[in-house]
Amino acid sequence: MTTALEIRNLHVNVGDKPILKGVNLLVKQGETHALMGPNGTGKSTLAYTLMGHPGYTVTAGQIIFKGVDLLELEPDERSRLGLFLAFQYPVAIPGVSVANFLRTAINARRRAAKPDDKGIPIPEFRKALKSKMDLLSMPHDFAGRYLNDGFSGGEKKRAEILQMAALDPEIAVLDETDSGLDIDALRIVAEGVNRLAGPTMGVLVITHYQRILNYIKPQFVHVMLDGRIVESGGAELALHLEEKGYDWVREKYVEKT
Ligand code: ADP
Ligand code: MG
Repeated sequence: MTTALEIRNLHVNVGDKPILKGVNLLVKQGETHALMGPNGTGKSTLAYTLMGHPGYTVTAGQIIFKGVDLLELEPDERSRLGLFLAFQYPVAIPGVSVANFLRTAINARRRAAKPDDKGIPIPEFRKALKSKMDLLSMPHDFAGRYLNDGFSGGEKKRAEILQMAALDPEIAVLDETDSGLDIDALRIVAEGVNRLAGPTMGVLVITHYQRILNYIKPQFVHVMLDGRIVESGGAELALHLEEKGYDWVREKYVEKT
């Protein structure tokens, strides 16, 4: 079994409109990838499709995760298999503390791996949660607050990153595109990714901000244009984009087609 997320020739429609037009991408455990590109090119469409959002119809292609056809799975099954997706606008759950939410999520993952699992013992959970919060420089009282209820933008990002840390996914996809993400939130996400990315986790950071790459150093950078990945490279591509923007990619792409 390969621990990787493989997207093969993916075509996705929103309603009758084709948005993704043949995306190919391989993210392996232990790798950090950045998917970049101007607004409206289909980056979030890819993230929603990975999640299994019903508004996004796959018309061709495959998504294979850990050797399993992801498109056959419900969103919760995808998560329990070890795929983590973070979105820009997380929902508030008043009445459910961050700690309870995380414990429920961890237990669901454990049960997916081992159906007769009794759930993580509370002392073990508390210890694990504290160590994750320390890793992310978070105050411990954060765990007792209601999830996203009255959280600032930065706190929502922290909750999301803590969730990622607690769930220990094999592949994490973070869609941080569009406006509204201030520099603090960006830094929280970047620091979290840098601390957590490692041999057991692969990351795909989706963003149109070159500036996040001041904080995250991806090994692989991809540029999406008009529903396709038209350019891939290493960290040097990110630096080039930071300097030159996307126009040169557009020009090159128009010449090719
Ligand atoms: P990006 O994240 O790169 O900015 P999106 O995936 O959000 O791009 O959008 C790509 C295209 O798909 C845009 O033209 C957008 O209008 C369209 N689109 C995406 N989601 C929807 C939706 N739910 N309803 C209608 N159009 C959508
Ligand atoms: Mg987007």
